[in-house]
Amino acid sequence: MKSAWARLVALGAAVDACLLPWELEGQAVPENLKRQVGTVPTPIGEGNRWENGDIPRGLGTQPRNSSIDTIMSTTEIRSAVEALIKEFELELIETPEETHDGQIMFGAKVGQAGCNGSYRTLLTAGIHARERGGPDNLVYFIADLLWARREGTGVAYGGRSFTPEEVDKALQAGIIFMPMLNPDGIAHDQAEGDCWRKNRNPDGPVDLNRNFDILWDYKTKFIEGVGISVASDNPTHETYHGVEPFSEPESRNVKWIMEEYPTISWTLDIHSFAGLVLYSWGDDYNQASDPDMNPFNPAYDGKRGLAVDQPGQEYRAYMPLDVWRNDSFVALRVADAMNSAVDGRHVEATQSVSLYPSSGSLADWMSAQHVLNEDNGVTHGFTIEFGRQAGGRCPFYSDVGAFNDNIRQMGAGLMELLVAAADTGLGDLSCDAVP
Ligand SMILES: [Zn+2]
Repeated sequence: MKSAWARLVALGAAVDACLLPWELEGQAVPENLKRQVGTVPTPIGEGNRWENGDIPRGLGTQPRNSSIDTIMSTTEIRSAVEALIKEFELELIETPEETHDGQIMFGAKVGQAGCNGSYRTLLTAGIHARERGGPDNLVYFIADLLWARREGTGVAYGGRSFTPEEVDKALQAGIIFMPMLNPDGIAHDQAEGDCWRKNRNPDGPVDLNRNFDILWDYKTKFIEGVGISVASDNPTHETYHGVEPFSEPESRNVKWIMEEYPTISWTLDIHSFAGLVLYSWGDDYNQASDPDMNPFNPAYDGKRGLAVDQPGQEYRAYMPLDVWRNDSFVALRVADAMNSAVDGRHVEATQSVSLYPSSGSLADWMSAQHVLNEDNGVTHGFTIEFGRQAGGRCPFYSDVGAFNDNIRQMGAGLMELLVAAADTGLGDLSCDAVP
């Protein structure tokens, strides 16, 4: 039987993000695609651009025709962050648990000057290994913010400029950034070039973006036959969700971040490729009239994930009207900023379920913080799917031109998100009020 979403797909709905059409059906790479010669993937840096004191600099603070020719290797991503930490006196974050391959996950804090601790925003990338360029987008954006603050300038991404005042405003959001949520997977993908998505759990690699503790038990929570975009308990599938919620050190480390920094109220996770800015929920379409009809109420188990409800299976996910209105508006602002940066690579704002329903995702877990912990306020969880499909065996490996377009579009999108967060209100920003 075809799932409800598979029927939608047959009607032409977009599915080209994170998962490829044959992966949504649990099948192998088609033979004709294996032979396809397409895009020349952007090379991966072979040396280490930042080991001798050079500091990364994004495209937003460089002359308009500048370009970056290689993707950062995992070694370079670490050196780039360390170089920024040293140059701009940031604080390194390392999460407590080693990954399966013994790597330490890391990030840094970019706070308001003189106001340490007021971290309201978590920006993350690299949870899906093959979505190349995500970590670069994030590191170069942070580099731009820091350069611009020091020089007292604005930033410009293609056709979209931001003033020095907007740079200051963006920094008020107090940022924690983590460029590699799946360092083992990225190291593997860079070494093998095999379009690797999941982590490297030797007992069965896990899709970390299905391993968070929200609607994880998809067989109970969703309607039967909803399709494997939601999740899978088959370790050979690209959406294998692990043996239990938070079974993986990488997802537990993200949980640790949220426990260490309870003031975080805006999160954005960077993915590719679809040209979408997504807001919650991801299990079904939203509604604002019935608070009891929600992702946490077992009374609606077995009903979630049906795009067009059938009699007896009515369910849509409750989101308070003000949050829904705010988050859909912020997503629209971010998409518009990305569209005004680079021509011909249209980005759309939409609810994440309209891509495909999913369980255990980072963004939905972030949006559920105030439900999972009543001490927490509302957290706004967003996802961006940057870029377009590249030709060839791995459609996630873009060429140099697209890599640079993506850096510009993501720079504009990240700036707009932070400015929108500051416009919406970040809570009490006084240093004294922050733990
Ligand atoms: Zn992804």
